[in-house]
Amino acid sequence: MTLDEILKEIQEAEKIVMLAHETPDGDAIGSLLGLKLGLEKIGKKADVIVTKYARTFDFLPAIDALKTESDIKKYDLAISLDCATIKRLDNREYFENAKKTIVIDHHGSNNMYGDINYVNPVAPACAEIVLSMLSYYNIEIDSKIGTCLMTGIITDTGGLQYPSTTADTFEYASELLRKGVDIPDICKRTLQTKTKANFELSKRVMDRLEILENGKIAFSYITKKDLKEVNAEEGDHEGLVNIGRNIEGVEVSIFIRQDDEDEKMYKVSMRSGEYVNVSDVCLMFGGGGHPRAAGAKIQGTTEQIKTKLVNETKKYLKWFWGRSKKSSNWITFLINAF
Ligand code: 5GP
Ligand code: MN
Repeated sequence: MTLDEILKEIQEAEKIVMLAHETPDGDAIGSLLGLKLGLEKIGKKADVIVTKYARTFDFLPAIDALKTESDIKKYDLAISLDCATIKRLDNREYFENAKKTIVIDHHGSNNMYGDINYVNPVAPACAEIVLSMLSYYNIEIDSKIGTCLMTGIITDTGGLQYPSTTADTFEYASELLRKGVDIPDICKRTLQTKTKANFELSKRVMDRLEILENGKIAFSYITKKDLKEVNAEEGDHEGLVNIGRNIEGVEVSIFIRQDDEDEKMYKVSMRSGEYVNVSDVCLMFGGGGHPRAAGAKIQGTTEQIKTKLVNETKKYLKWFWGRSKKSSNWITFLINAF
């Protein structure tokens, strides 16, 4: 079984490195630290290399162990967490140079770029996969490991709210709560508390927000200039895409953010409410993600990118309307079919 193969590789490797996707979120950081601490329980040390992360995660146990680079160029084993493609992997040279590679992930769009791939698209967070792995290996999950992994679960499920949350997720949460993991504190730190810069950016996103396609699509953006004016730090854009998604009637929220280094490049974040598969929309632009949360990188001006994304998204809105339960309303059906 894959999990046994993974354990064998971990036990045989002397030098292990763990990596995650660029601009890491709570699931990426939580999975990395949770697995690192878990492996320590069986006497295995691993380097965790992350270029930069949001200071929101400073409270996590072992956060100080994160490195930005390593002297070791060729690891025996590289483990990638929460990352769908090698293109998105932060510090991917360590992965490419490693003797053996393992991919642990929950993205449906994962293209299985490791020697061993353990991918479960039904898991709401990569951290939940790590949790199930550690349990399978009979590694004791203490409150430190639990805090890291619960942070991944909380951030990727919006506080156990998204439909991706399963009965298993609640069971894991209840086990971790019993072990002393402070779940309300994690929710407060990662979901409720906003930095001042994030708050300032929210105001700009709201001001510029456009509601398109009969109220079904919301679009907004921030530029490099905005980020500079509010003194934004790493992670200060997190959650801005939800402003559009939370408006009544909006099915798809599109939020774009200008790249720091390449002014022509924008980072796209998309969220959907009930039926549009935004991962499919983003795949058309070389990105990917999950059905209800996805992203990509696109070149152009804000207007050009808006037009491209809205035109692509529109196809999915029409497709659904033609087949929805609401199609029993013939007038709505005919209006939307043509
Ligand atoms: P976010 O909008 O929070 O940056 O990303 C939402 C989801 O889409 C995450 O699961 C993230 O991993 C995925 N995602 C974001 N940007 C990209 C991208 O450029 N390529 C791929 N393949 N996935 C992305
Ligand atoms: Mn994730």
